[in-house]
Amino acid sequence: MDLRIDGKSAIVCGASRGLGRACAEALAGEGALVTLVARRLQPLQIVADRIAGAGGRRPAIVAADVATAEGRAAVKAASAETDILVTNAGGPPAKDFTELTLGDWERALETNFLSAVEMIRVFAPSMSKRRWGRIVNITSATVRMPVERLDLSTSARLALTGYVAGVARQIAKDGVTINNLLPGTVMTERLAELGATAQALIARVPAGRAGKPEEVGAACAFLCSEQAGFITGQSLLVDGGLCALTI
Ligand code: NAD
Repeated sequence: MDLRIDGKSAIVCGASRGLGRACAEALAGEGALVTLVARRLQPLQIVADRIAGAGGRRPAIVAADVATAEGRAAVKAASAETDILVTNAGGPPAKDFTELTLGDWERALETNFLSAVEMIRVFAPSMSKRRWGRIVNITSATVRMPVERLDLSTSARLALTGYVAGVARQIAKDGVTINNLLPGTVMTERLAELGATAQALIARVPAGRAGKPEEVGAACAFLCSEQAGFITGQSLLVDGGLCALTI
């Protein structure tokens, strides 16, 4: 299926590896002009080379920490407007709830809630003005199914889910959609780093395997497509059946 986003501009956050990189590659594969954002320049250059080497348009790169106001300002300075925005950053640490400090909460909310809220506030109005836009937030399956020691993740991402539920309806009339992608047990570098714990997590997945980053990338590209224009305010699990839910 031609997703009809050839030539659209796209900002992808947390794009130096893992799911962000997979989303960037999928969008570039559809002909989008991608701007890759992550904190360090060098890994971004490698991703840009990879995308150009695979025949995609060479992405722009911005070294910025999206959890800070300065970082978000740097993204805005590099691209005043965009057709597509993918918000994403690293997940918060796993910790027992009794050990969570106020600092842990502040960092998690900055990184996994406020960064997305602020990026949406900055870029959504110009999408509305141009009557077309697609926003996808990478959140987590923890939104649908809490996981022990991941309370920072569950809480910060549920805050974002609530925000999206309201804002998506306010800008739907402008041709702008906002949806959340909820990965569960996808084999990125982060999961691989967990070693034996990763194997235990994979054993719980009904599909009998970990997800592939490109499967999340493909779902992201579809939500950014012309054809997905009537899908908004939704949270889509990409988890191989991990969350045992009826709806
Ligand atoms: P990852 O740690 O491999 O990649 C995160 C990317 O974001 C990297 O490119 C990193 O450099 C970048 N990044 C981190 N903090 C940033 C910041 N403040 N500003 C800019 N860039 C930043 O993680 P991943 O496995 O690709 O997962 C992406 C997101 O999805 C994370 O929030 C993770 O918690 C969530 N998630 C992943 C899975 C999974 O199975 N992989 C499951 C549930 C949720």
